Amino acid sequence: MLHFDVSELPDFPRKIVILGATGSIGSQALEIVRKYPDLLQVVGISGYHQVDELAVIQNEFSVPHVGLAASEESTSFTGHFGGAKMHTGKEGLVELASLEQADLVLVALVGTAGLEPTLAAIEAKKTIALANKEVLVMAGKFVTQAARENGCLILPVDSEHNALFQCAQAAHDATSEIEKLILTGSGGSFRERPLDQFASITVEEALNHPNWDMGQKVTIDSATMANKGLELIEAKWLFNLRPDQLEVTIHRQSIVHSMVQFCDGSILGQLSPPSMTFPIQHCLLYPERRAPVQPTLSFQESLNLDFSPVDFERYPCLKLAYAAMDHGGVAETVFNAANEVAVAAFVAGELPFLRINQVIEQTLAAIPITDPSSLDAVLDADQQARRRAQELLTPTLC
Ligand code: NAD
Ligand code: MG
Repeated sequence: MLHFDVSELPDFPRKIVILGATGSIGSQALEIVRKYPDLLQVVGISGYHQVDELAVIQNEFSVPHVGLAASEESTSFTGHFGGAKMHTGKEGLVELASLEQADLVLVALVGTAGLEPTLAAIEAKKTIALANKEVLVMAGKFVTQAARENGCLILPVDSEHNALFQCAQAAHDATSEIEKLILTGSGGSFRERPLDQFASITVEEALNHPNWDMGQKVTIDSATMANKGLELIEAKWLFNLRPDQLEVTIHRQSIVHSMVQFCDGSILGQLSPPSMTFPIQHCLLYPERRAPVQPTLSFQESLNLDFSPVDFERYPCLKLAYAAMDHGGVAETVFNAANEVAVAAFVAGELPFLRINQVIEQTLAAIPITDPSSLDAVLDADQQARRRAQELLTPTLC
């Protein structure tokens, strides 16, 4: 993905679909559209079951296509949406992702919900702005292969990957010149907490991120740093690199969003405040640069940036992600599925924080790690891993 022809990008005004428009990324994308209505036109939005929120968005942006993923029933909602065409259920997301009039699809769904719509958008040859990292973690091999075959661009929204994408463009020949990628991570909610107090971590504490205001799953993933693990795997697929070329550093301020180290020893980083509006805008308007929706950094005030190595004892999920990358095959799919089950159980108050990494580790040990020959094999491993992880939630019964 590092080299592609900018002339292949859709012209402005760009017609965009926002899958997950009611979420954290989706709402910030709408801020960009609000600022640049001459450049961006929303032709499709989706939510899960937030009928009222969707109605407000539809009304403000006069969106002609609206998706309600949780519902299989469209008729009862027509009154809410000012005559917009309704698309319901999983099938509705696929329809929105491949809308004929759309140029660019922002995938801001959460977890595995984004896989099918992303593949549909790729097959329909849309430009993709991908926030939903689990899509690449779960099925990176098949998603990147489909993107190559369809000549489809995947622009990374995740702040680290967006930073890497921007920095990598300084390479004359990315394949030979990029030595490694250094992903930064804030360390999440528990970077200071003594390890002997991890057993008492509550959901409320885990949802209180020091730097970023994000959706629930990604916030818990940040606290365990499973998020950085998912991002390592995401980077591996996006940039086509080996696991030993991917490094993580703890950077408390979340201002340097990631760095590329070149073969001549130079390291380039991308800096902006910890707000997803910067990478979202970069993707939606790429390759154009316009004024941001929020103020950027000021060097008229002191700014401290510090970096420290990862303590894997504090963040065992990150170690498991490296192990999954080294194993290859469906290990990454299994890591993602087990993490999703464990996080959902933690949020529901059914699993202690300290068991999240154990559920992932035990699921990885239980599922045969094969090299998937098809997307079906990936989906099968995903389902097996979910079942096994679910059983592990009640260890005394297993
Ligand atoms: P969120 O929970 O705030 O929003 C998710 C959106 O998807 C909502 O519109 C919701 O209605 C919809 N949705 C949820 N479950 C669904 C399902 N099963 N089927 C269809 N739709 C469903 O999530 P978010 O924080 O915006 O994150 C979206 C993606 O972006 C995640 O993969 C996350 O890891 C990634 N990401 C988020 C941030 C951030 O700052 N929020 C940063 C980097 C990457
Ligand atoms: Mg990120």
